[in-house]
Amino acid sequence: MPADWQRGPYFGSPQTFMRVPATRDLAYADVAIIGLPMDIGTTHRPGARYGPRGIRDISCQLFPHGFDSLFLAPPFNQLRVVDYGDIETYPGYIEQSLKKSQEELVPIFKAGVFPVCLGGDHTITLSVLRAAAQQHGTLSLIHFDAHPDFWGGEADRRYHHGTVFRIATEEGLIDPAASAQIGIRGSISATIIGQARAAGFNVITADDFASLGPTATLERIRGLVRGPIYVSLDIDSVDPAFAPGTGTPEVAGFSSRDIVTLVRGLRGLPVVAFDLVEVAPVYDSAEITCLLAANLVYEFLLTLMPE
Ligand code: MN
Repeated sequence: MPADWQRGPYFGSPQTFMRVPATRDLAYADVAIIGLPMDIGTTHRPGARYGPRGIRDISCQLFPHGFDSLFLAPPFNQLRVVDYGDIETYPGYIEQSLKKSQEELVPIFKAGVFPVCLGGDHTITLSVLRAAAQQHGTLSLIHFDAHPDFWGGEADRRYHHGTVFRIATEEGLIDPAASAQIGIRGSISATIIGQARAAGFNVITADDFASLGPTATLERIRGLVRGPIYVSLDIDSVDPAFAPGTGTPEVAGFSSRDIVTLVRGLRGLPVVAFDLVEVAPVYDSAEITCLLAANLVYEFLLTLMPE
């Protein structure tokens, strides 16, 4: 269980996620919260390296013994959640950081522990996907984002946060036909949506979502995924009115309510890994982005509870 909220104070001491125990002993874990504090793959405004700290800091105010309105059960009774701390990354060295991250994640998957990864920019997803595919084979991807992150890059400059899902497709880590990208919008994305679709991705744009609504969107997602699923949530899928603390914001995105509903809708799917990326606290306002991100991680944990 997380530390008692009445002892502490709960806003003191270095924070783990929701004050769950800090350990790297995987024998005592069902779920590991893992920080990946790297943002050298950012193409616009940096700062996501502070994402794990920002999310952990504000998460201390979430109430771990409470009863969720939807599921009416406290998650930590049934799930042993630990905070694994941060994976060592190397500022300035993107490929070495990805390699190190993948190497650290492989034993976590092997131990049957579910990784919940806090970015970091979206590049970190590639290292988690590589480790996940090593364990589970080719994955379905459920990807919430304003951007398809399907740019080609250059032969000698492949890695940045916009090339992740093209590389993952080329490496056979994900099956685009059994994958969905949801919330896509904005001038940057307009040039690349066609390429993502041509590669087989099911792209549900922010406009599509506005017509479909969350229920039909979730039905569509559930209808096309198969096998082990990787869920990647870029906080810029959410409107900057709700989540300004991110490097590449795009207007007219999900509301907080929308994204909570979408995450809750993942319950029961065979998800094997989750990441939440691109939280950059330096651009945040009143910590609303970090607070939303912490709540989304909590909502995701609830989806892992036995039915
Ligand atoms: Mn994005």
